[in-house]
Amino acid sequence: MTTLFLHATIITVNTAREVIHDGYLLVRGQHIAAIGKCPPPSSITSSDSEPEPETINCTGQIMIPGLINTHAHLVQSLLRGLAEDLPLHNWLCDAIWPLESVYEGDDGYHAARLTITEMLRTGTTTFLDPMVTYRAGWEGVCRAVGEMGIRGCLGKLVKFPETNRQLSITDPRDRDLINMSVATLIHHHQQYHGQHDGRLHVWAAAGTPRGAPASLYRDLGDACASHGISITMHCAEAPRDREIFHDVYGCSAMQFIRDTKLCPQPLPPPPPPPSTSTTRTTTQSGSSQTHHLVLAHMVNLDLEIDIPLLRSTKTAIAHNPSSNLKLASGIAPIPALLDTTTKIPEVSSSPPITISLGTDGAPCSNHYDMIREMHLASILHKGANHDASLIPAETALEMATINGARALGLETEIGSLEVGKKADLVLVDPYGRGGVGAAPWDWEDIGGGGVTAVTTVVHGCTGRDVGVVMVDGVVVVRDGEMVKGGREGEGEVVRQARMAVRGIRGRCNSGAGRVGGVLKCGWKDV
Ligand SMILES: [Zn+2]
Repeated sequence: MTTLFLHATIITVNTAREVIHDGYLLVRGQHIAAIGKCPPPSSITSSDSEPEPETINCTGQIMIPGLINTHAHLVQSLLRGLAEDLPLHNWLCDAIWPLESVYEGDDGYHAARLTITEMLRTGTTTFLDPMVTYRAGWEGVCRAVGEMGIRGCLGKLVKFPETNRQLSITDPRDRDLINMSVATLIHHHQQYHGQHDGRLHVWAAAGTPRGAPASLYRDLGDACASHGISITMHCAEAPRDREIFHDVYGCSAMQFIRDTKLCPQPLPPPPPPPSTSTTRTTTQSGSSQTHHLVLAHMVNLDLEIDIPLLRSTKTAIAHNPSSNLKLASGIAPIPALLDTTTKIPEVSSSPPITISLGTDGAPCSNHYDMIREMHLASILHKGANHDASLIPAETALEMATINGARALGLETEIGSLEVGKKADLVLVDPYGRGGVGAAPWDWEDIGGGGVTAVTTVVHGCTGRDVGVVMVDGVVVVRDGEMVKGGREGEGEVVRQARMAVRGIRGRCNSGAGRVGGVLKCGWKDV
């Protein structure tokens, strides 16, 4: 299958950060075969052995790499709006954990289908889920990823007892601990990693350290290093999480990560080749480290201690501005983490910290729209720091694309539009869906001082302006609708989700509990 996109404004996010005006992009099979300025040379498509490519005219549209959401709970879409106006620890203990503990049957499958529909339709082509719970049903979530054509890293929850009376933490999901062990993780990794043409990746999702022995985390770190399983974890989210690191473990967040070896470890040097050749190789994948680590949130840190450790341990961050604001966790110190002009000598030679972007789950951000998240990431730190120069739109777009790919260890495959990379791409159509919010953006006024394509996408559009989405060379969204099933199929996904959440609420509230949406401030349903 060959597809030729013509007359697009292409934001490549390549090394030179080129924006191509009136550009073309050719997809052959799963990969980008050619990219440049129109007209494309006839040689790239004229082949007797190849059928004519499908041509998509993109006049007036902006092409970006597929967006990468590095912190998104797939199965929480069913809980959207059910835990409003609560701080993190109450939100977890009083609402989210009780609700998640009564998922059954196909609930997780229906939730995943709903989330993936929203992700694809708003331009996300790859995600990292930091917590597929036992009750959500692993098999069903994998099936949803396979059926719907998205690229996904599923974090299999590895959980140690979180119920902790001293800290007033009660987690009803702890009854399933046996199914959330390191051994179960390794088994799932062996069975599922690489399924669906390599679109499905299996990660470890470590439960947040809230009292469980550090030695259990060390066991997890060792197992992941020896099996090459990447890890993600919620870390230093609320102010209380920082206190727990200090009071329970006697260290900062990143000291905990270093000491438990959750961070990537260098691979031992390869054995000398049998011949006299001096060519050195690393692993089959070309990586020189055992695995990758993505820590979500990272709001409440000990910066003097944690910044050097973040850099020296090659730990990536998933920044979640919507979630952090809504749950009153605070504002992550992203400008300080991005600052490469540090005066700390042992840090200045380390590579900068990779900051990617995530929406988190629907109950704490109410959406999975990465364009909205980019907009917020860009404006939040300006206001918080009284510095309008911080996080320009270009930086926000890097977080949502190439940095996300780097965080996942997939930067040679996705994250930018370059020849040889997987064809994961999005066409944003600022005027096509009836909107005028991006006007008067003018794709024909090039370099004349008009609004740029990057500003237009990040600040003038939302995911609802996405028209076409391609993953792995396959068009999965066209005219703003899912190709498989169309509008009718989407309606069925929503209907199933409505049914599923009624069951979940019913089971959760069958005792004395009362969890769910409620009008506040004296407002009432009539
Ligand atoms: Zn989360």
